[in-house]
Amino acid sequence: MASNTQNTQTAGGVLYIAATPIGNLEDITLRCLRILQEVDLIAAEDTRHTRKLLTHYTIHTPLISYYREKEAERSTELVRRLLKGESIALVSDAGTPAISDPGAVLVRKAREAGITIVPLPGPSALITALSAAGITDPSFLFLGFAPSKKSQRRTLLTSLCNNSSSLIFYESPRRIKSLLTDIFNIMGDRQAFWGRELTKTYEDLQQGPVSSLLQQASQHTSKGEFVLIIEPAEQLQAEGENLLDLLCWYRDNTSMSLKDVSRKLASDLALSRSKVYQEALEIYKNKQH
Ligand code: SAM
Repeated sequence: MASNTQNTQTAGGVLYIAATPIGNLEDITLRCLRILQEVDLIAAEDTRHTRKLLTHYTIHTPLISYYREKEAERSTELVRRLLKGESIALVSDAGTPAISDPGAVLVRKAREAGITIVPLPGPSALITALSAAGITDPSFLFLGFAPSKKSQRRTLLTSLCNNSSSLIFYESPRRIKSLLTDIFNIMGDRQAFWGRELTKTYEDLQQGPVSSLLQQASQHTSKGEFVLIIEPAEQLQAEGENLLDLLCWYRDNTSMSLKDVSRKLASDLALSRSKVYQEALEIYKNKQH
């Protein structure tokens, strides 16, 4: 049974959250291999998939399936086993469990039951892609998979237009073109990056405007899974000597909402927000369409 030297106050066995490769089987830590060998049970998103990894490393630990549709039910059973003293490693098909993958329900229930939780760091597609994107600003927003319904996807993208962080999406080959098309139409031709087939034989890293990635996605049937990173819109320097000038500048040069502009200028110029809002209403009334 795997030992837990970190915490002796908690009940039962230990739940390990084990990151496994996102393609290249060599991308697994020594610690993770040892724990997978030592635990009583491995809870896997897809047992057939994980069996290939275990066979590669000659690990014979029993497997149990733990997938999205059965999360609630299976997590209750696993917590019961943990409370009895068994140690369990949770793995997903690729990368870090609970990151756009099942796992969070089990983690929460196990913590509520007083079980020790030990995360084993390792591969994650988003961090792998981000490390190769060459983006100097440290701020990013990870969104997982964008909604598959077009209207919901467009609503989400619209709400992100003024976000000043890089946006990171997971996407399948089937939907990459629709996502890029919506981004192009809603956010404009921003700088972007994709990491496709990361760590695999045909790894593909591309950087350029959204339009050029869209062109590439249209040229060949884009096989392989994607991590897509969209850089923030270039920040224009606001020009204006006074509140009215600045309001006109924001109205004419950005897609920021009247409310956001008022909030920003009130804070930048140390003015009352309601005063700025009233002025903004007047200025935005005169917007040329
Ligand atoms: N838990 C995983 C992680 O830590 O990255 C992600 C699982 S999520 C269900 C699977 C998505 O991650 C894929 O659709 C793809 O967007 C991305 N992904 C996983 N492996 C990848 C790879 N080798 N190359 C590019 N993207 C990958």
